[in-house]
This record gives sequence, structure tokens and C-alpha cells, in this order.
Amino acid sequence: MTARLLEGGPIAAEIRDAVAEDVASFIRTESRPPGLRVVIVGRDAPSMVYLERILRGCAKVGIDAGFVELEGEATEATVTGTIRALNDDPSVDGVIVQMPLPPTIRLRAVVDSIDPAKDIDGIHPLNAGLLRLGYEGFLPATAHAAVEILRRSGIEIEGRNAVVIGRSPVVGMPAAFLLVREDATVTVCHSRTTDLAAHVANADIVVVAVGRPGLITGSMLKPGAVVVDVGINLVEGRLVGDVDFASAVEVASAITPVPGGVGPLTNALLLSHLVRAAQRQADDQPVSSRGV
Ligand code: NAP
Repeated sequence: MTARLLEGGPIAAEIRDAVAEDVASFIRTESRPPGLRVVIVGRDAPSMVYLERILRGCAKVGIDAGFVELEGEATEATVTGTIRALNDDPSVDGVIVQMPLPPTIRLRAVVDSIDPAKDIDGIHPLNAGLLRLGYEGFLPATAHAAVEILRRSGIEIEGRNAVVIGRSPVVGMPAAFLLVREDATVTVCHSRTTDLAAHVANADIVVVAVGRPGLITGSMLKPGAVVVDVGINLVEGRLVGDVDFASAVEVASAITPVPGGVGPLTNALLLSHLVRAAQRQADDQPVSSRGV
């Protein structure tokens, strides 16, 4: 078997087209574009590449995007104060804080300082709680992308055994909750899982979000499994996922490539979250008003 490639690019393009229309309509009614600010603390190369990609994507659809750059030595109070000022700025609809933060700054303090209504990457505890309870808040974009790529590719999720490898609050756990919401039977594996291979062998859908190249190989997969590779690793100057693509593609029925799978969709979904945040704030709606 040679797996079908689940490419994120065409789906991302569809989402961006819809976002561009929503942005145009927002500008007509509000007489300003939706605004995004990215807070970046200290300049490290991967962050800047990611940032430039977001800014370019925003410019293409008419979003007013910019960044606030703080010194790597900035204090926690400066970072949280900067975020609060953005919370209070009516021209800013969404705030993202670029990770990782310097070790002197507590992640929790930063996360708590983001207004949940502007938390378009779903990292605030309120949005995490809304997801957990099945209400409509803001989803972490990567986890959203991992499940959206399955939905938009017509992959059946309901009733299937899904294994999510990785339990981080920003990727693994929200992806698992989203799969449960789609009626999959979900197992979450992590670094203390005793027999990862046994879980993977039983999985119809495998979502891998670890950060270890080659963790999952074709011989571990159930024939016909669907594989979503969220991992991003730089190996000898090349971007690779957590799945050994060459062997997995021979066993899986569908697989996301790295690069070109979950990544492009993550960026497009972030823009769609921003437009939703802008519309909700303009309409004065609470962060979550209804269940899903
Ligand atoms: P993270 O916070 O480091 O979490 C990694 C998870 O993997 C943890 O839950 C860890 O378990 C688990 N793990 C580590 N070694 C393992 C092993 N040998 N077997 C099973 N599980 C293991 O990372 P993250 O932020 O969730 O990111 C995960 C990956 O996604 C990274 O490669 C990152 O670069 C990538 N990523 C991609 C995108 C995108 O747009 N495609 C966006 C964000 C992140 P414990 O909890 O037990 O430590």
C-alpha cells in the first residue's frame, strides 16, 4: 500500500480565502482591519522564521499584524504589562505570545495575563476549560489543525480507535479532546507509556506530537492506519516529523507529510481564529456563549 498524502496546503488555501472574505466584510462594518499582535521575548532564529510567516500570511488576507519585541532580559512584569496593554487596545483583536519564553519568566503568569477573548491560540485556562467541557472557545491552532486535516480530508473519525502520542497542554491533550468530541475512542500515550508499540498497533488513527524523529515507524502501524504527524524536527538541515515517512507511507492508508501537512493548516486556522475573535469582540459577545 502507498498511503494517500494528506496535504495541508490546499486546505489552508481554502481557509485563507474564506478568511480574506471575512476580513473584507469586517472592514466594511468596522472601518478597520482585524488586528493581531505577536509578543516575542528575545530574538531566537526559529521564532523569527515563524513570526515572519505569520506576518506574511496576515498581510495577504488584509489583517493588520505586527509584533512587540521585548529584550531577552525583560522581566515577567514587563512581559505581562505588555500583554495587558494589548488586551486594553481596541485595535488589537488577538494576542499570541511566542514560545519558548526565557526560563526566568513563568509561563503561567504570562498565560494568565492574556485576555481569553483575544487568546486566539487557546492557551488561557478558560479556553482550555471550554474545550474540555465541549463549549466553543478558542482552540490551540496546532491541535485544531491535526483534527481539521482529518475532517476536511473526509477521513472517518467516529467510532475509530485513535492514539495520540504526546500530552502537552498545547498539542497532545487538546487534540485528544477534539478527537473525543468527534466520537473517536482515544488513548493518550506519553513518555511513561509502557508499551507504546502495542497501543499504536491497535490504532486506526495515530496523531504523533512528541518532537522525536523516527519515533513511529511503518512496522509499528496497523495496515491502513491514518497518520497525522505533528512533529517538527530539524535533522541535518532538513525538516522532518516524528514518523519515519518512508516506511510509514508503505503501511498507512493516509499520512500527513512534514513539511506541508499540519503546519500550513495551523497558520491558516490561526488567522480564522483571529477573525472570529475580532467579530465576537465587535459584537460584544462573551468568549463562549453556546455549546457545540
Ligand atoms: P512537548 O511539550 O515537548 O511535549 C512532548 C510530549 O511528547 C510530552 O507529552 C512527552 O511526554 C511526550 N514524549 C516524549 N518522549 C516520548 C516518547 N519516547 N514516547 C512517547 N511520548 C513521548 O511538545 P509539544 O509542544 O507538544 O510539540 C510536540 C511536537 O509538535 C514538537 O515536535 C513540536 O515542534 C511540534 N509542533 C508542531 C506544530 C505545527 O504547526 N505542526 C506546532 C507546535 C508544535 P511527557 O508528558 O511524559 O513528558
